[in-house]
Amino acid sequence: ATTTIARDTQVFDLIAKEKHRQESGIELIASENFTSPQVMEAAGSVLTNKYAEGLPGKRYYGGCEVVDEIEQLAIDRIRELFGATWANVQPHSGAQANTAVFLACLQPGDTILGFDLSHGGHLTHGSPVNISGKYFRPTFYGVEKESGVINYDKVEETAMRERPKMMICGASAYSRDWDYVRLRAIADQIGALLLADISHPAGLIAKGLLNDPLEHCHIVTTTTHKTLRGPRGGLIMMRNDFENPFGIKTPKGDIRMMSSLLDSGVFPGTQGGPLEHIIAAKAVAFGEALSDDFADYATQVKKNAQAMAKALLDRGYQIISGGTDNHLMLIDLRSKGLTGKLAENTLIKADITINKNMVPFDDKSPMVTSGIRVGTPAMTTRGLKEADMERIVDYMDTVLMNHDNDAKLSAVKDDINSWMKAFPLYA
Ligand code: PLP
Repeated sequence: ATTTIARDTQVFDLIAKEKHRQESGIELIASENFTSPQVMEAAGSVLTNKYAEGLPGKRYYGGCEVVDEIEQLAIDRIRELFGATWANVQPHSGAQANTAVFLACLQPGDTILGFDLSHGGHLTHGSPVNISGKYFRPTFYGVEKESGVINYDKVEETAMRERPKMMICGASAYSRDWDYVRLRAIADQIGALLLADISHPAGLIAKGLLNDPLEHCHIVTTTTHKTLRGPRGGLIMMRNDFENPFGIKTPKGDIRMMSSLLDSGVFPGTQGGPLEHIIAAKAVAFGEALSDDFADYATQVKKNAQAMAKALLDRGYQIISGGTDNHLMLIDLRSKGLTGKLAENTLIKADITINKNMVPFDDKSPMVTSGIRVGTPAMTTRGLKEADMERIVDYMDTVLMNHDNDAKLSAVKDDINSWMKAFPLYA
């Protein structure tokens, strides 16, 4: 029996080490968060043993009665959370969700229009190293050099010129809200599908703290592990647009509704068996996100981001677009004479985790970069408030201004490690 197998101390000792790392440092990576113990319990459950190709009630395997109920619960909860009428919760990740949408809606060689990666967009929105840029013809819009903000007149100009079949909005490093009404008006002029990838701000959108993409975008994708605070994963949703605008046909030649096309874009299009243990963990996280506590959390994430932006600006740091509407911000370090790479490598010595990031119109390579990206979702989960953001920025500033002073970095690290003991993460 499996119980006689010796415990794998090699792996579990490493997991314990990672837990210690997460608990003792300051986590500012904007795409990370800390899930609840019950989310992790579901993710580590016996559901990992089950094959369930297909959808609830329509499976290619026997014994799916229980997982059907679990997956349906996840679907029902996410629909309630976002006011969606349809959802597929099976994508293994955000990238998988986007790939499934492309497979369902586009033909190889079709033109897509996405937000430039170097301005804050995501690899899956047309980068030449991703399937989205290899199988389709990618075109891009970006931010204005002066303001750091998207100019929708220019998006329209580009869309009219390039005539994409799909327009993609959403980003990994854009701190401003999106004008979905305007984007839909542009898409409608050229008969394009509009996809919103809300992977980053999903938790804030769920609680009405940012504009609602579901009302205006044909299709919405998201990851489940960022501001939504669930297990690593992705999903696809729709509210209004079930018509199949391009008459896209199935291999058998039928014209089906968008929801049905998207379901087959996930399975059998790009995935095999769904991860029912992760889907159960998604259901738990969506249940948590439906609570009033989560509304307080999302509100605090935003307040903390604003407090952090103010503290950075007060200390002379330059934030792209001058501030933030959401949970993150992009800092241009050129005015401080630092690179993103140096900042990342120095901050980690004091147990502050961030990621280096290209800034718009960056003159450095992606391995060096002129900026860093920081966000508040993870530290807000730990219970930190506005005043704590100021303390974090003080630590960051001390570290960056003393990047060659190892004694100073080590003193800051000790201080942070003892401060973090006041915010226990997992008992
Ligand atoms: N889309 C956006 C906007 C993202 O920021 C990310 C992750 O960083 C993804 C998609 C991809 O998600 P995953 O890493 O789960 O594939």
